Amino acid sequence: MSQDWKKYQEENKERFLNEMLDLLRIPSISAKSEYKNEMQRCAEAVKDSLLAAGAGKAAVMATDGHPVVYGEKIIDPAKPTVLVYGHYDVQPAEPLELWHNDPFDPTIKDGKVFARGSADDKGQFYMHVKALETLVKTNTMTTNIKFLIEGEEEVGSPNLGKFVAANKELLKADVILISDSSLLSMENPSLDTGVRGLSYIEIEVTGANRDLHSGTYGGAVANPITILAKMIASCHDENNHITIPGFYDDVVVASDEERALINKAPYNDQEYKDELGVKELWGEKGYSTYERTGIRPTIEVNGIWGGYTGEGAKTVLPSKAFAKVSARLVPNQSSEKITEKLLNYFRSIAPASVEVKAELHHGGEPYMTPIDSKGYKAASKALETTFGKTPIPVRGGGSIPICSLLEKELGIKIIFMGFGLDNDNLHSPNEKYNIENYYKGIETIPYFHKFFAE
Ligand SMILES: [Zn+2]
Repeated sequence: MSQDWKKYQEENKERFLNEMLDLLRIPSISAKSEYKNEMQRCAEAVKDSLLAAGAGKAAVMATDGHPVVYGEKIIDPAKPTVLVYGHYDVQPAEPLELWHNDPFDPTIKDGKVFARGSADDKGQFYMHVKALETLVKTNTMTTNIKFLIEGEEEVGSPNLGKFVAANKELLKADVILISDSSLLSMENPSLDTGVRGLSYIEIEVTGANRDLHSGTYGGAVANPITILAKMIASCHDENNHITIPGFYDDVVVASDEERALINKAPYNDQEYKDELGVKELWGEKGYSTYERTGIRPTIEVNGIWGGYTGEGAKTVLPSKAFAKVSARLVPNQSSEKITEKLLNYFRSIAPASVEVKAELHHGGEPYMTPIDSKGYKAASKALETTFGKTPIPVRGGGSIPICSLLEKELGIKIIFMGFGLDNDNLHSPNEKYNIENYYKGIETIPYFHKFFAE
């Protein structure tokens, strides 16, 4: 069958790429309400692509937010079923001036597709659509395949839980397969064994009841930006250890064995720094880079604003300051508990000279998948077949908030088989996806189904 796959994919290579580019042209930005129609249009395009690929059934299904696309190709209910999860929504593209091309006009340069959503996640879930097509058209399906492609991943999947709970029978499967993560490199293939959880909050600090003249009042009235900056700075001590009381209480300490495995992954400190344009790295003392981004929880400020930020100078003592702050969580931290701790921390440390409002945005639980499961083994064998090397198990630093919920509702394990690279600029300007990776994914996925069915 592998010869048939190769031939079919070779013959349809151009079209596979062009179809992905078409999908990237739809600005499916879930966070902005003015893109509601584009979201609907994108969902319809995904549905059509599933039907064109040979799905027996596909539908755009309404939720209280952006719709979900469901599709399936059932060959035999007695055969194992793989549920592919992905998302068709993308992050906002701002700051637009830093892009070298229009983020929704995919541009190919040096074998890479530059466009918002190219790697996260349109280009990646679309590999599964083309893998389905390959299996259908070469008549080599060995599993039933279902698709759950949502439109709210980038805003924390607020409606997917309800959707999954209401459609358990429809989504019934033996394993969930997700391509929304990256490989260590093309030379060193890897499989993620988990994702971190997330707690996201927003803080508003208010001083005086209006913006003030900084000469008349400065020195006598608290500046909310200064106060907010101090509060944020107090989250880390001199070892970059998080100071929020109880933050580490439930953290599962990684075994020496797991730490050794993580640190065996190929890593070049100088290359890592050069690629990012920094002279020194930063992080929690006592841990390596991959430990910091995999097995340790973190807190980051995602945005901070207030006062005058326009052209020129304005001597103002602002009335308000704002920040968006999020924590990445590891097993067994609970998003709800950590959110409470974050909110309480910011409320409790504020001096009486300001008022603090702190509110939850969204959260998600950390998730881990065992490496001795049938699904992991099938994925490992699939990558070994097409890369010629056994993939290294690594803990992913990102979050897919829906993971623990999918497992809880459907009672099955998740396999993370991502084909991106860390330098794909996810959520950043000039997001890209290497065409080589796209084709490699399409080549590899059919093997997953083959090995999973064996
Ligand atoms: Zn994603």
